[in-house]
Amino acid sequence: MINARLEEVINKQINAELYSAYLYLSMSAYFESINLPGFANWMRVQFEEEQFHGLKFLKYLVERGGRVKLDAIEQPQFEWNNPLEVFEHTLEHERHVTALLNNIAEIAEVEKDRATRNLMVWFIDEQVEEEGSAEKIINELKMIGGEGHGMLMLDREFSTRVFTPPVNA
Ligand code: MG
Repeated sequence: MINARLEEVINKQINAELYSAYLYLSMSAYFESINLPGFANWMRVQFEEEQFHGLKFLKYLVERGGRVKLDAIEQPQFEWNNPLEVFEHTLEHERHVTALLNNIAEIAEVEKDRATRNLMVWFIDEQVEEEGSAEKIINELKMIGGEGHGMLMLDREFSTRVFTPPVNA
């Protein structure tokens, strides 16, 4: 049986992951509205990835004998000024998620819950990739100044991204 404090923060994290999914779906719709279907695809893959994260936490809580309590998902932003702003928002959001995960890891340490601590290792490693890919795209967008040929190339590249669930998960 999982400790009550961990049960509470994991429930909150399920909501945070599903909010992330919702935010990226909203970003995907924004990209559709400005005729960047490749960027929209990239964000739809993010949407799938975040749903996967939410489910991973949910399954873990069930496995540990915890009770899943789903909460309302906050409305995400739906308007941005340009693609660069979207990815800056993404990076800022992922840094916030990293802080939430580090907090769960700390509680797991205090409560001496090794299984939860191990789960957090997987998630925190994943965050390195999440933040890294947002940073990379921000740099690319700055390099091409957000216009013309460069945007077309990036849009084509992003149209090939597909979601593949991690094998060890
Ligand atoms: Mg996530």
